[in-house]
Formats: sequence, C-alpha cells, structure tokens
Amino acid sequence: MQTKRVFVCGIVQESNSFNPAYATLDDFIQYGIFEGDEILTSGKKCGMTVNGMLKILSDEQITPVPGVSTRAGSGGPLADSVVEWFLDKNINAIKQAGKLDGVLVSLHGATMSESSGDVCGDILEKIRQTVGEKVVISAAFDLHANITEKIIKNTDYISGYQMYPHLDLYETGIRAAQRVVEHLKGIKSKVARVEIPMIAPAHGYTTEKGSLFDLMSYAKDLKAQNKIVDYNIFQVQPWLDTEKMSSTTIITAKSEETAKTVAAELAKKEFAIRHELLGTPLFDIADVIQKALDNKSSKPIVLVDSADSPNAGACGDSAAVLKALLPYRDKLSCAVAVTDIAAVDKAFELGVGATADFTLGGSIAPKLTSPVVVKNAVVKGLHDGTFYMHGPQERGQERNIGKTAVLKAGKILINVSYYGKCEGDKNFYSNFGIEPEFCDLVSVKACTSFRAGYEPISAEICNTNTPGAAGPVLTDMPYENRPVPMFPFEEITEEHISEAKCYR
Ligand SMILES: [Zn+2]
Repeated sequence: MQTKRVFVCGIVQESNSFNPAYATLDDFIQYGIFEGDEILTSGKKCGMTVNGMLKILSDEQITPVPGVSTRAGSGGPLADSVVEWFLDKNINAIKQAGKLDGVLVSLHGATMSESSGDVCGDILEKIRQTVGEKVVISAAFDLHANITEKIIKNTDYISGYQMYPHLDLYETGIRAAQRVVEHLKGIKSKVARVEIPMIAPAHGYTTEKGSLFDLMSYAKDLKAQNKIVDYNIFQVQPWLDTEKMSSTTIITAKSEETAKTVAAELAKKEFAIRHELLGTPLFDIADVIQKALDNKSSKPIVLVDSADSPNAGACGDSAAVLKALLPYRDKLSCAVAVTDIAAVDKAFELGVGATADFTLGGSIAPKLTSPVVVKNAVVKGLHDGTFYMHGPQERGQERNIGKTAVLKAGKILINVSYYGKCEGDKNFYSNFGIEPEFCDLVSVKACTSFRAGYEPISAEICNTNTPGAAGPVLTDMPYENRPVPMFPFEEITEEHISEAKCYR
C-alpha cells in the first residue's frame, strides 16, 4: 500500500485593527520562515503546533510534504504583500507536490490584512480550490480565533487551543493531525458551528479558573465520556474591527445531530457567562501608584498595562504609565517599557553614562497616546535586544526586541526598545539588568501571559485602565465595522445566538 502524503504549512499572526502599523515580512523573518525540509528539521523553532502535527504524522508513518510555515508576534493587520507571498509559496508547493491525501494548516484565526478582514478564510479557500473537495483539510487555531463561515466551509476539521494562557500549542497540533489520521482511516466526523455575537477583553478571563474554566471542563468531560470527538470554545480576539466577527463554539462529533446539539448547548453556556468574561473592574493608574506608595511588603505592585500589550497586537509605544510615574521619580523604584526607535538611536549616539532629556512614546500610534518628555535621564545600558524567555510558554527560546537602551530617571528604570515583544515575560526586564523583584512598581504590557512569571514575586496585580490599541474597556474603543448587536456594546439575548450548522 502506498504511504499517505499530507501537506503541512502555516502562518500565525494575531491582528489588532487599532494598531496602524501594517505587519510586513520583516515581522515574520524575526521569528523565522521555514520552507520545505526546514520545517521537518527545525524542531520547536518552527512552532509547537506544527511540531505536534509532525509527531502524529511520524507516528502513523504518513509522509509530511512541507510547504512554508512562519509566524510573527501580534501586531497591526498584515500588509497585502505578506498574504500574497504566503499563498504564492504554498499554492505552488501544493501544485508541485503530486498526489496529496490531506492538508494540515497552522493558523491564528484572527488575522486581518490591508484589504481583508478574514485572511485565514482566504487562505483556506485558496487551498481548498487547489486540492479539491476530496482532500481532507484540518486546521489549527488560537483560542482567540474568529472562525468565520468561510473558514469552516473550506475546512474539514478545526482544532483550537483549549487553554488560556496558551500552554497547549503542541497538543492542538496533535489534535488537528489526529482528525486527518482518523479521516484517512475512514472514521469521518461532523463539525458544527454556532456563533455568539459577543466579545470580551483578553485580560478578563483565563481557562485556569472562573467561568471559562468551568465551561471548558464541562466540554472536556463530554469528550472524556466519548459523547463528542473534540470541542472548541473560541473567545474571539476582540480588537478586530471587522464585519464578520463573533465568538463561536465548534464541536466535532460522530453524528451531525450530536455535533449540532452540543455546539448549541455550549454556546448557550458561553452566552450565560458573558458578563463574567469582561473581568473585574479596572484600577486607574493613580490608584495603582497609591498602592505602591502604601505597600509595606517587600514585593512590587504590578500595574497591568494590557491596553498597550504587544501580545494583543498593540504598539508598545504608550508612555501613559511613565508620564503618571514621573512625579514620583525620586520616591518609587519602577520598571516601565516603551517602544521608541528614535529614542533608542539617541541613547546609542550618546553612549552609556550620558545624561539627556528624552522624548518617549506615541511614536507608532500617535492617535492613541502622546509622547512624554523625561528630563535628565541617564543612559544606563545599551543592548542588542536579545533575551531568553523565562516561560513557562516557550521557555528558553530566544527573542529579539531590536536595539534596546535602559534609561534611568531618578528611581525609574525604562526599557526603551526598537520593537515591543513578549513584554509579559519576566526576562523582558531581567535580561536587560532591570530586576522586577527589586521594584516598588512594575508596569507590564501584557494581558494574561505574564501571570505565571509575576504572581510568585508580586504583592498585588492590578488590571489598569490605560490607553492603547488593546484597550480593556471595549465600549471606549473606536469600532467602525463590528456587527450590531454585539455584547458588550448592546445587550443580547439567547435569540441572537445563531443556529447550529454543519457545513460539510
Ligand atoms: Zn490567543
């Protein structure tokens, strides 16, 4: 018998509509572009999801046919040229691959471009048109995916992360590949989708506790009891300003009837927890500074500046927290971060030890935040921007935030970098000589990923209402294209939940 052959490719990027800087190929080059056999030999670097897929193909003695796989940090929508490049590479590779039995694609699911609100749907449609209706297509997604009708119509199976923070990338790749293996053995399942017109800010929930944990656990039990084959509860990335946006439940089951029934049941449960997913009330920056002033413990107060979280696609260029801290520069030892290329260049020109006035912030998205002048800041350190992830996600992996300067204004230490990336990782500060543990206040530009590193070392973690492209108060953000009605902008009822539907 001839061995089965499955094409493998991927492009992972989470887009934020409110970040005005389009993501270019350079953003992907930073994380690596893997083509052909490089996908098979690059190990973890190529992405844990693709690794999980390859593991199953190898176990099942299925031949992987590698295309192009890449990923980038979250950011603005993709430049059209990136999508064209990716499709060109992979569609040509598929055409030259000879007979294929299946396709595995690693995607984010909340990816936009200059001209499209649904890049993942566009990619899957092109792949489907190229391989035809009979070749099984299974795609892996982030938990924050926007699973549109176009995505599901062009895909046989959908597998999304079930954990937030995302600790199951590898396992999601495994699940996506398992569906292909089963399908090729003649065990075919049905996939049902239900849309819920609701969004929630990413800092508001996790799958480790609370109502989303309960909902995930309920679905997990159904899977453990073999009532369903697999489950996905997609809580869509909310800073996507596009007409076709919704949270979804996607259930894989042996029968269409079961898939539909369970998807509808879970959607009702997700609808019921919509208020809880918005999170607890936010602090103002001034409240958090007061907490740091009053704090008697030896541990720092963490000010969560999730609005400017590069992991949520924001720009990392907000100096709003720094501005509020400046009056306390001789009182509070603080760690803050700002992305600002011009300021880094200035620091490099001046050299270590120099003192100067620096204008910081508002350099990428001046409509969202404004710059602040920091007088008499000392250039304390200059770096090439390389650091190693503390983890737990991607522990030990190398990241580079471009040329980086550490400035010192009184007791405030400022990480000023070319690019904001992985700012929730503790080593984002530590590796540049800023020790969060020794601060009174640490500002962290992240939504949830930072907790594993910071919870053990901090006195209190404060979600804070700050300005930025990932603003946590969604009703304050300038959406222009979102569907109406949509929670939390409008109250919705169960009637607004869509019918459960199978598309293939
Ligand atoms: Zn996510």
